[in-house]
Amino acid sequence: MSQILIKEGDYVPGNMYFTTTRLHQELAGGIFVDVIVDAAHDPQDTFPFKGNVDLGKLAALVDEVGADRVPYISLEGNVNMAGGQPFSMANLRELRLFCDKHDIPIMLDATRTIENAWFIREREAGYAEKPVRDILREICDMTDGCTMSAKKDALVNIGGFFACNDDEVFQKAQNLVVVYEGLHTYGGMAGRDMEAMAQGIREAVTEEHMAARIGQVYYLGRKLEAAGVPIVEPIGSHAIFIDARRFLPHIDQDEYPAQALAAELFIESGIRSMERGNVSAGRDPVTGKNRRPKLELVRLTIPRRVYTQAHMDVVAESVIDLYQRRDKIRGLKMVYEPDYLRFFQARFEPL
Ligand SMILES: *Cc1c(COP(=O)(O)O)cnc(C)c1O
Repeated sequence: MSQILIKEGDYVPGNMYFTTTRLHQELAGGIFVDVIVDAAHDPQDTFPFKGNVDLGKLAALVDEVGADRVPYISLEGNVNMAGGQPFSMANLRELRLFCDKHDIPIMLDATRTIENAWFIREREAGYAEKPVRDILREICDMTDGCTMSAKKDALVNIGGFFACNDDEVFQKAQNLVVVYEGLHTYGGMAGRDMEAMAQGIREAVTEEHMAARIGQVYYLGRKLEAAGVPIVEPIGSHAIFIDARRFLPHIDQDEYPAQALAAELFIESGIRSMERGNVSAGRDPVTGKNRRPKLELVRLTIPRRVYTQAHMDVVAESVIDLYQRRDKIRGLKMVYEPDYLRFFQARFEPL
């Protein structure tokens, strides 16, 4: 999608960045611009739709660079890096009007959009009685295309898809897919995996599944909250995000507090979490400096249909143990840094 739509020097606004998404935009010559609402950058702000696009920020960008330098807006459902936070239907409707006016397509990162639909049902006036599948349909109808990592909402081990309404873009994508993945009829996926994905989507849009799935995430989040552990509020859909900035205030961001906390949790308990802070944000391509993002988080991501309540209890106990001895946790030094997406393969030493 990036290779087809982005030209050198284009600007790609998005409701916060996603790591690989931003890299592909940059490799295609684009410049990512964050247009999410300010609340998303504050872990303690309890605004229920922290995934919303700030139309003011978007309009300012379009005014500054011109709509023809903006090939599309990248809109993510249940924004991962913000803590699994949804956009509202009201916000999407406004975005649609703005984009129609300026002839800018909306490309959805649909990875967690079923969970986004669930939160609209739970939180937005007028949707309490609407089936999740109808809300999802409404979101998709208001966007021009999507990328979908099926490993998340769609309950399968591997795979994904790209979809769009524009015949020309579709034909280009159909041509590129044979270069990178496989014939357009299967795009590198085995037939049985595509069948599993179709079934996964059918099950994932049921209210029973969503209530159990997000209920389990809330169960863990409430336990940590009760023990005073600082986490991102409101609790999101797919993970609990520990606020490492408040957990380890004595560690400077260039000594990677979230990475240090993730490492410490693994040593303590064998629980594998994920840094989502200064390591993940990477370096500014112009200055070469660490980006030092406002959010310095550790993500406890919960796979669907894998763990029991007892597992959640162990996770909570382990995190609470660390919280009680947090003063003793020290920062890290990065001793190996790969060129791209460093958070996947970087190595660290304790300071
Ligand atoms: C996981 C994820 C992706 C990437 O999907 P892969 O299938 O791992 O390539 C893209 N966007 C979001 C929001 C994700 O969470």
